[in-house]
Amino acid sequence: GKGIAVFTSGGDSFRISSSNVLQGMNAAVRAVVRMGLYVGARVFFIREGYQGMVDGGDAICEASWSSVSGIIHKGGTVIGSARCKDFRERSGRLKAAKNLINNGITNLCVIGGDGSLTGANLFKDDWPALLQILVKNGEITEEQSLKHSHLNIVGMVGSIDNDFCGTDMTIGTDSALHRIMEAVDAIAATAYSHQRCFILEVMGRHCGYLALVAGLTSEADYIFIPEYPPPQNWEDKLCDKLQQERAMGQRLNIIIVAEGAIDQQGQPISAEDVRKVIVNKLGMDTRITVLGHVQRGGAPSAFDRLLGCRMGAEAVLTLMEATPESEPCVVSLDGNQTVRVPLVGCVLKTQAVARAMHDHQWEEAVKMRGRS
Ligand code: ATP
Repeated sequence: GKGIAVFTSGGDSFRISSSNVLQGMNAAVRAVVRMGLYVGARVFFIREGYQGMVDGGDAICEASWSSVSGIIHKGGTVIGSARCKDFRERSGRLKAAKNLINNGITNLCVIGGDGSLTGANLFKDDWPALLQILVKNGEITEEQSLKHSHLNIVGMVGSIDNDFCGTDMTIGTDSALHRIMEAVDAIAATAYSHQRCFILEVMGRHCGYLALVAGLTSEADYIFIPEYPPPQNWEDKLCDKLQQERAMGQRLNIIIVAEGAIDQQGQPISAEDVRKVIVNKLGMDTRITVLGHVQRGGAPSAFDRLLGCRMGAEAVLTLMEATPESEPCVVSLDGNQTVRVPLVGCVLKTQAVARAMHDHQWEEAVKMRGRS
C-alpha cells in the first residue's frame, strides 16, 4: 500500500498563541491513521513536526490501529510539535527526503498553521531536485528515485485564532471558546458579590473571532478586536456603557480584549490600557485576567473532535486520489461540509489578510477573509 505520514507542526513565533498544540489535533491524527489503514495504506507518525522528518530514526514510526486508541479526548498533540530551522535549508530537506524514502513514504498529512503548510508546499516543489541530488550523492538508488518520484501533500489547519482563509473553522478554535466561556462563568460566579469589572485578554493576533464570539456567548459589555478599532473617543464610550449597565442594576462588567486589539492609529490597546481608563474615570474595582495558555488547555470540545475526525478522513482520501498533476489541497469546512481547497491560494490569501491588517486596511482584510 501507499506510505502516508502524519505530523503536527508549528510554533516559530514567540507569541503565546501559536498553532503548535491545539485541542482536536489528536482526533485528526487518529482519523488519518485509521482511515489510512482502512484503505490499505501504511501509516507513519512523524514526531516533533519537521524536526522528526529531518532527524529520522525513532522519530518516524509506523502506526497501528491501536496506537491511536484513547487519544481523542486529550488536548495538544500526542506526536509532538516543534519548530525546525533545519527544514528551511536545503540540507535539512535532503535529510528529510532521504528519511521518507527509506520508510517508503511519499504522502504527507501536515497539521499546522500557514507556515507549516508553506513548508510542505515548498518541499513538494523541491522534491524532484532533492531526489536528483540524493541519487547523485549515492544516498538513494536510481530505482528508489523512480519509485518515489512524486510527493503528495495535504494540509489540515490548526489555529486557535480561526484566522485561516478557506475554512469556516480551524482545529482548536471551538475548544478555546469553551475555555474562555468557562473562565468568564467562573469569574461571574465569584465577582457577582463584589461589584467588579473584569477584563479578559484572549488570543487573536490579526483575527478577533475568539473575542467576538466569546463576547456574544458570555454577555460581555464591551469587546476590543483588531478588525474594528474602536472610535477615537472609545474611553468615553466604554465608560458610558459601563455606567449605563451599573445604573440598570448590573453588578458585574465583563470586557474582552483580543491580544491584537488596536486603536484607530494602529496602536495596541492592552487590557492594562482599558483597566487604567476605567479606574481613572470611574474608580471601579477592575481586575485583569490574561487567559494565555489556558485557552489551549483542557479537553477538546465535541466540535473539535468531530472536525479532526472529518478532516483526517478526508485528508487520507485526498492523498489516495492524488495524481502527479493534482494541486496540493487543504481540507476545510465550508458550510458544515468537508471540502478540499487549493493550499497555495488559501495560504497566500491568509498572508494577504495578515498584511492588510498590519497596514491597517481593516475593512479590506475582513472582506478578503470572507466567511470565516
Ligand atoms: P504558528 O505560527 O501558528 O505556530 P505555523 O505552522 O504557521 O504555526 P511556523 O512556525 O511558521 O508555524 O512554521 C512551522 C515550521 O514549518 C517551521 O519551523 C519550519 O520548519 C517550517 N516552515 C515554515 N515556513 C517554511 C518555509 N518557508 N520553508 C521551509 N519550511 C518552512
